[in-house]
Amino acid sequence: MKDIKPEMHDIGKLIDSSIIKHNFENYPGNLEGVPPIKMNPIWEGILQHHCAEWATQYPKSFQIFILSLADDIASATSRHGMKEDEERRPRYIGGKSIYNVYKLWNPPSDVFHELSSAIGIDTSDPKWITRIVEFINKNPSSKEFFETFGDYLKKRAEDAHPGSNITSLWTHSKLTALFYNFLYDYLEKVSDKWFKTATKEEVRDYIRRVREGTKIKMVKIKMNFPQYPVRIRDLNIFDVLKELKNEISKKYPDNVIFVGFNELLLVLPLNKKLEEIRETVSKYGFWLEYAERIQNLNQPYPDPDRIMRLIDKMQKMQYKKFEEQIAKVPPDKRKKAEERIRKTIFEKGKEAKRIAELWDEYRHELSEKLYKKGSIYANLPDQINPPICEICQLNQATEKWVDEESGIVENLCVNCFNIRKRGSRFPKLDEWEKEGADRILWIRIGLDINELINVLEDLYAEYLRSLGVKKAEERAEIRFSVLSEFDWDYKEFLSKFRDKILGSFEENDFQQILEDFVAVKIKSLKDVFTVLRIFDDVFNEFFPKFKEVTSPIKLGVVCPNIKYPFLESWRILSDLKYDVHVCVIGKGEIKLNMEQLTPFLEIKVKNKALIHKLVAMSEISEKLAEIMLYDRADRDYRRYKPLRDAVREFGYQNILTYAKIMGG
Ligand SMILES: [Zn+2]
Repeated sequence: MKDIKPEMHDIGKLIDSSIIKHNFENYPGNLEGVPPIKMNPIWEGILQHHCAEWATQYPKSFQIFILSLADDIASATSRHGMKEDEERRPRYIGGKSIYNVYKLWNPPSDVFHELSSAIGIDTSDPKWITRIVEFINKNPSSKEFFETFGDYLKKRAEDAHPGSNITSLWTHSKLTALFYNFLYDYLEKVSDKWFKTATKEEVRDYIRRVREGTKIKMVKIKMNFPQYPVRIRDLNIFDVLKELKNEISKKYPDNVIFVGFNELLLVLPLNKKLEEIRETVSKYGFWLEYAERIQNLNQPYPDPDRIMRLIDKMQKMQYKKFEEQIAKVPPDKRKKAEERIRKTIFEKGKEAKRIAELWDEYRHELSEKLYKKGSIYANLPDQINPPICEICQLNQATEKWVDEESGIVENLCVNCFNIRKRGSRFPKLDEWEKEGADRILWIRIGLDINELINVLEDLYAEYLRSLGVKKAEERAEIRFSVLSEFDWDYKEFLSKFRDKILGSFEENDFQQILEDFVAVKIKSLKDVFTVLRIFDDVFNEFFPKFKEVTSPIKLGVVCPNIKYPFLESWRILSDLKYDVHVCVIGKGEIKLNMEQLTPFLEIKVKNKALIHKLVAMSEISEKLAEIMLYDRADRDYRRYKPLRDAVREFGYQNILTYAKIMGG
């Protein structure tokens, strides 16, 4: 197999298109002093990967045919010029090209209509063009490609049509390679001979048939572990989780689209069973929840739960509308108006119509077996003889674990014994445990993929509307490429967050457990605010737009004594329900949405004595403390004003916890 290195097919997009088309079919044109193309497989891919009306070149081999398909799936909007695409895609809105990437979560402040200013180099300069041609002429590796041109690829929108410029050429190049490898193995081979003699129309027609006739399976899996991590040493389970994620990513390099905390998104051939993955994860007794959806190649929706997600989203919109409209009615007339408003929204509204359509689709997918959801468990024995494993309670305990210090014996199954036997994977936690650290912070960042796609859809529609696109909601389709683009930023966000946390505490007081899960030993409770401040800063830097809508990214911070059972902290951290959730064991909780975080951190109550008074009172009765704030007879009534203001804005519980943290 000749190596066309699909990553490089769009390198021509780094050149001014008024001089050289990005498939180089008019090269060298009027250019002088530029080197000739030395044909190799990469060049064939570059020259022939389009099969559009405008192109004179088109796929002349099976590989380039695959490249053409992969290129399309990996793009921000469909580009094969098929009828059904044209109605959906936003690229026909016209207007001047926009060459820089509009990240939906972090839009640029400038709009660049010139390629050269977008990527910061003169893209019509024959020297630059020479550099690109000579680079491909030497048949470089994909690694060299990203090293040499990575910075430009990250700045250049894959598709410069206004409204389609939402992903970078960098993401597109990587994703094209993934789909290329996937489809190359999956699709039925057609001999190169056929391609050699086929006309462009014939190839176009074949592409159309394959896109409409090929089924792929989108699968989301969630890995769960039966082990309850009660003690610090049980945290090895997270080491296993990391290992399993790596193992699956390595085993399925051309299938894994997205890796979250314990979730993975995969694209699979129709005949691929989840059984193989089950075997991998069940080594340690893990089990899987999954959702899978069969779709055509020309519907690259990344989320298998799409229909239920949309129903859920529509319903939330209905309730929001209902509340908004009710709020407009004077209180004494609300009861009467309620029925009427309910009817117009829940029976006649456009969401109601959409929901009915979606339910039909859902039933259709279920009956046609296009959508499936369920759980896959590890092979369990029919009967478990005692003693039962004390950690997972799923297997017979055949091993004994003796604690070196206390001599306590635990009965464990082989799985759990082996996890324990890994030894201490998080050495600092052991040290802190030995020294009996008073306060530590468990810090976890979570990402809700369904929520993410919802929010991206809304932000995309907003962007399209700003460009004057009509029916923006219908066209704001989130495809693989946007999700991948987000993923790059999300990974960078996590790493910056960790670095900043590490920078604010001593190295011996920081322990990474996973990319999105760390522990910190703190000296003062106020360090909770240090963590919140860092989160807020990094969040503002990467995802400012999420603050205007809902945030799919959640932060959980639990602050216990090291001896406190980890399981209690994990109950909160494993299911993050609020944008920001802080729980200081024994003191109280703070629950905020992202929009509130910055103002919350700006609360200023200068009078420490008042805080102490509030906290002291709350130790007798929290209710009494609240009454005291509003008691005009209290001699500090006036001075409580900043606290009262804060309570109005953030709620009493949040402020009480704030006061307890500030009061030590
Ligand atoms: Zn066990």
